[in-house]
Amino acid sequence: MMDKVSRYIVISEETYTDETGQRLRLVYATRTARVMPVLPRVAAALLADDVRSVPDVLLPGLRQAEVIVPAGEDELTAMVTRNRVAASDPSIVQFILLPATYCNMGCAYCGQEHLRGGLSPDHRNKVRARVLRAIRRDTTQEIKVDWFGAEPMMGFAAIRDLAPDFVQAADEVSVKYSSTMVTNGSLLTKRKLDILVGVCRVGNFDITLDGPPDVHDVHRPLKSGQGSFWKIVSTIREALDDPGYQRVNFDFRTNVDIHNQDRLAEYFDLMADLGFARPNVTFSIARVRPWGNDVSAIELSAMEFAERELAWLDTIRRRGLSFSAVPKVAKQVTCPAVRLSGELISGTGNVFSCTDHPLVPEGERDHALGHIADPGLPLFRPAGEFDGWHDEVLAGKSGCRACVFYPTCGGACPKAWREGNPPCPSYKFNIQGRLGYLAAQAGLRPAEKGSSGEASQE
Ligand code: SF4
Ligand code: SF4
Repeated sequence: MMDKVSRYIVISEETYTDETGQRLRLVYATRTARVMPVLPRVAAALLADDVRSVPDVLLPGLRQAEVIVPAGEDELTAMVTRNRVAASDPSIVQFILLPATYCNMGCAYCGQEHLRGGLSPDHRNKVRARVLRAIRRDTTQEIKVDWFGAEPMMGFAAIRDLAPDFVQAADEVSVKYSSTMVTNGSLLTKRKLDILVGVCRVGNFDITLDGPPDVHDVHRPLKSGQGSFWKIVSTIREALDDPGYQRVNFDFRTNVDIHNQDRLAEYFDLMADLGFARPNVTFSIARVRPWGNDVSAIELSAMEFAERELAWLDTIRRRGLSFSAVPKVAKQVTCPAVRLSGELISGTGNVFSCTDHPLVPEGERDHALGHIADPGLPLFRPAGEFDGWHDEVLAGKSGCRACVFYPTCGGACPKAWREGNPPCPSYKFNIQGRLGYLAAQAGLRPAEKGSSGEASQE
């Protein structure tokens, strides 16, 4: 069988040495999201698309990582087909539920409009019936139920009511159940966390902290005028000390704009001092982006952000905090908006495919695909505006067709591309620095340059 070097690899420009003095470069294979060290002459052969110069003994491993692929394969079509199949896989179902229409925070960069008032019992029962029906379908093997906002903890009573029914039904028919909550964290208490984890089986919490206390409390102000940093941090810290939380994951996300960009290193130092260097606590950093609103006055450019991020990663690594430098799994389903067996149900009862639409006035008005009270609502949402995303990639309507990161990124956000606002993740712009971060984590050091030829160093 003839082989070729995949178009979906990135090779470190830097050469490193391990503790024995062996010179190595890193290869990131985006089809499989695997990183591996190779000798410099192997890296050179891969860069030259010269499979014959790769030692035979390495070929099986490189094929398995899809660094080397069949010569006749159209890789773009193969990756788009892989993702298209995953997005329409009926065995994996995802519901994103907004159990409230109100948020107790008033972040300047949020595009949602929050309305007071709980969900009616009728709405709640209709949501329950839809999710239970999906769990009990013959084809369903796995269900993800994600609690999203506004602030989902404003709807804690609804979660407490609905989730145990979902968990029980999933167990009865041996469907794998997983659940994530995206929350501002301010309404969490240890008692409520115990219920969410133990009774509602929420296993992942995505919590936003925008910097050290004085920054966070201004960047993400409570509508009451009070701060929330210390309340959030002490609640999660208490949970982490409970052995029952070892398999519960907490991700602290920081949204960065011009107001907090200079305080992130200090924030990571503080979080390390507070004891958050743990395997089940991860940190992520995101650029503030438009969300049905105009953030042009405060957002950083993609390049500015990517450059600054490498300095933040240095602090994160030095302090032993967990951060995913490059995706470790390929992204086969770009986002909820392209998944066919799933939907998002807003606190208003409107059904959507895209998480940017609920509670944003224009989204609720113009982009709802149906309403929970519609008697003719199909099993999953009606056709959505991003269902044709895979064809758009093939047709080159975004930068993704030619991008080496398509297999790990999937195109990030079809909506942003549609709006002319490329959503490329920062690793597209600072991948070399991130490979350096991984090398440092693995104990590799940059090799001294120019002392001798690489070919003789192997
Ligand atoms: S299209 Fe963009 S905003 Fe909508 S769900 Fe996908 S990633 Fe989120
Ligand atoms: S969104 Fe950007 S990084 Fe992701 S696949 Fe498309 S062009 Fe590449």
